Amino acid sequence: MTAQADYAALVQRGLSLDLTRGKPSPRQLDLSNDLLRLPTSYRAADGTDGRNYGNLQGLTELRELFAPLVQVPAGQLVVGGNSSLALMHDTIVHALLTKVPGAARRWVEEPEVTFLCPVPGYDRHFTITERFGIKMVPVPMNAEGPDMDVVERLVAADASVKGIWCVPKYSNPSGVTYSDETVRRLAAMPAAAPDFRIFWDNAYAVHHLTETPDELADLLALAAEHGNADRVFVYASTSKVTLAGSGVSFFGSSPANVEWFLHNTGKQSIGPDKLNQLRHVEFLGDPAGVAAHMRRHAELIGPKFELVDKVLTERLGDLGTWTSPAGGYFISLEVPHAAEVVARAKAAGIALTPAGATHPYGKDAADRTIRIAPTFPELDELEQAIEGLAVCARAVAEELG
Ligand code: PMP
Repeated sequence: MTAQADYAALVQRGLSLDLTRGKPSPRQLDLSNDLLRLPTSYRAADGTDGRNYGNLQGLTELRELFAPLVQVPAGQLVVGGNSSLALMHDTIVHALLTKVPGAARRWVEEPEVTFLCPVPGYDRHFTITERFGIKMVPVPMNAEGPDMDVVERLVAADASVKGIWCVPKYSNPSGVTYSDETVRRLAAMPAAAPDFRIFWDNAYAVHHLTETPDELADLLALAAEHGNADRVFVYASTSKVTLAGSGVSFFGSSPANVEWFLHNTGKQSIGPDKLNQLRHVEFLGDPAGVAAHMRRHAELIGPKFELVDKVLTERLGDLGTWTSPAGGYFISLEVPHAAEVVARAKAAGIALTPAGATHPYGKDAADRTIRIAPTFPELDELEQAIEGLAVCARAVAEELG
């Protein structure tokens, strides 16, 4: 059969499969069902009544539990609600409306604000900056993180460059972990803007798929060593540790930035959900408890990543290239005419993240990157979806070359 005939047969099957978003599967969520019966006490270690208002920064015991995991001293860590994305969004709003430490003026008063966007990257980051009219400049990712020659040149030359989006570990979607040298250069590089910030979204800090986890250098400490203590905003959450809709999130930074952040969030809220914080402390216990829990996730999702790799090897071969990440939630597939492949897949009932979503303004100039999110479907559905995707890619290649 030709690839076109394979494609016609695929459409005939009338599939309805979804590979769009990196959601945990119901079986992964089940791993955290004990949370539904916690906390057993509403008292925090210092006697705080978890049921009441107060404690904007979050409970000490939860900050101490996550401090080593996200590489931020507990005293410089703030606990947020269930969404770290909301913390990132709000940090930008605060920076627009209230001078960040070291800034000459509020970002809203700047003639232009620019963010560097390593690509492929996380679409929801780009949506936030686009929403506020922040100019986005793509920077290519390589095997060690963003191309640092490009980053250093742009950050040193242009005072409108106020930020860079980074997913430093098991990056979304490439799976890359930034090398020590990349992290050191980010910490040390000169910046034209005194209020330049690195948005360090460590969403996959503990999300290993192998027994030999990637190590990430400590950007916050390195930045301080290089005299750039205020350069780093760290984010993380338990969205893919416990419950994606009911976890806890974290913001970490220098003491001056944390003070600035709490000054702003203190106007938004009288205090966070401390019962959820207590619940998480009781459930996860200590860093070893988090690691054990994450191994159970890896047992469930590891076979899904292996399956995607196997099917692409067998069915796509040298028509594309793809990543085999050692952690995180995504596989990045590169094929010619990615937008057309995604459109064909949609017509065959296989929903994929729109081609281009991995780039600012949804524009992938090379039209090559497709993000695959393998965690949610069960193995049989995943197999059908990736086989179908390969059929689409072959049909497009046969037709368009
Ligand atoms: N950052 C990255 C890199 C992600 O991939 C995701 C989820 N897809 C998020 C943040 C969302 O995090 P949260 O649920 O804490 O808002």
